Amino acid sequence: MDSRKNKKEGKKKKQEREPIVAYLSFPAFLTIVSSSVEVFRKETIGYLVGFKGERKYRVEYAIPYQTADSGYVHASVDMDRVSRINEILSKVSQGLEFVGDFHSHTVFGNSPGTVIPSDADLASTIPGEINLICAVNLKKRAVRWRENARGILLGTIGDYRIDIGGYYVEAATIGRKYDRVAVKCPAVTGIKEEEE
Ligand SMILES: [Zn+2]
Repeated sequence: MDSRKNKKEGKKKKQEREPIVAYLSFPAFLTIVSSSVEVFRKETIGYLVGFKGERKYRVEYAIPYQTADSGYVHASVDMDRVSRINEILSKVSQGLEFVGDFHSHTVFGNSPGTVIPSDADLASTIPGEINLICAVNLKKRAVRWRENARGILLGTIGDYRIDIGGYYVEAATIGRKYDRVAVKCPAVTGIKEEEE
């Protein structure tokens, strides 16, 4: 029995929020992957510069931090650095701003690197920014670059298997609450038709 009172077809279903999507430019993709592979068995960290939209981010540049904090320690986010970057960007480009961070995860003993944020990652995450994790493992077989159903961008380069996943923390809360960010890079996966 369908008892809809108003037949507003135009009214959108707002029960499910659209997933947050991060679109990587080819240069940003290259920097994230190459800096992560270069320090394989250690972790790299850097920041992301681009444009913010409604639950959409365009990542134009990825810039690894120069601080050589070697080892498996997760560097904390330096807010001074964020404001310095934004100060420079505000003078040169309309709309281009700091949009988030990236870092790599790698093999640790027998544990493979994953795109799942650690407790330390979540503790140092800035709410409202996107966070990309580039997991680097030794490849078992070659796969072509694609996005999987969970929004992870994956593929192989040389001896390595790369998985890039994203997460987002809406507001500062205690605990492990985060949204997954779908990572896309049409430059490496090929242009796909819009699904909606
Ligand atoms: Zn991490």
